[in-house]
Amino acid sequence: MSRRSQLSVSDYVDGVLAGDRAILGRAISLVESTAARHQQAARDVLTALMPHTGGSHRVGITGVPGVGKSTFIEALGLHLIEEGYQVAVLAVDPSSTRSGGSILGDKTRMERLSMHDKAFIRPSPTSGTLGGVASRTRETLLLCEAAGYDIVLVETVGVGQSELVVAEMTDFFLVLMLAGAGDELQGIKRGLMELADSLVVNKADGDNADKAKLAASTYRSALRLLRGMDPHWKPKVLTASGLHGSGVPEVWELIASHRAALEEDGEWTRRRQAQQHTWMWSMVDDLLRRSLHDDPAVKALLPSLEAEVAAGTQAPTRAAAALIEAFLRRR
Ligand code: GDP
Repeated sequence: MSRRSQLSVSDYVDGVLAGDRAILGRAISLVESTAARHQQAARDVLTALMPHTGGSHRVGITGVPGVGKSTFIEALGLHLIEEGYQVAVLAVDPSSTRSGGSILGDKTRMERLSMHDKAFIRPSPTSGTLGGVASRTRETLLLCEAAGYDIVLVETVGVGQSELVVAEMTDFFLVLMLAGAGDELQGIKRGLMELADSLVVNKADGDNADKAKLAASTYRSALRLLRGMDPHWKPKVLTASGLHGSGVPEVWELIASHRAALEEDGEWTRRRQAQQHTWMWSMVDDLLRRSLHDDPAVKALLPSLEAEVAAGTQAPTRAAAALIEAFLRRR
């Protein structure tokens, strides 16, 4: 077996710009790598590609496990390909960073879409904090844009703050729901309603179709109350069946109409600018946190301080100050 040849920064850049999927995959591995020499190369690749980014429509999709995300994303992706687009599917799965077990990473998901040459599917990065995973996913998103993907779907599952980080990196945030047994609004996090540009009641097929319609009208009233004042966009509620494909084209029409509405009043550009701003600060947080954790003085202090804090003999505030001081002293 031959070892894979080393690629130079310009090999990565040229390959990604040419839409070479193998090189795109390797460029993503490069940005995900924690090795210092890879990180420098990754930064060089991203900097060179930056002028070729920003062209995709970025769509976040969330929903609890079992709501039908992968089935729906596959149906949406295939529809978009039929419409002439190239589609990338990325994921932010914080469960994979903690336990090594992932909720979204199953290889057999989206089998038909993954075989398509107009689609590119990449599972979530599997190490680092949520902030770190989010940064890697943003960089992957940029690589996909430079490689010519018109639409990037970013999937996440409602764990921790993952919905917020995905909503912040995308242009449109879609929440998949299920029709329940009546009290629809229970169990929905209020914050989620505030992030959603659209709720889609999924699995609206067979015996479930009527229930889904009913649930949709309940959600509609709730959203009107919560988000009636939003001057740019009134979140819409639709029903769909990812399994049968019904309602899926309408979801895309809605996403496209959202873009048209926001572009008209300049909000689209403002949101893209806000995304950049949020991104910069999350990079600062991530880089600072990583260099702090990697700092030898901090590493040396940490075990005893942690033990003292756990035992209650040291106040967390003082321990935190001691760590920061040790970190800054060496700068
Ligand atoms: P995820 O965990 O949210 O990604 O959900 P999956 O897409 O893996 O779907 C979970 C289960 O629901 C699977 O057994 C699917 O076959 C089923 N399912 C997904 N979408 C639909 C749908 O639109 N209608 C019906 N009836 N079942 C669906």
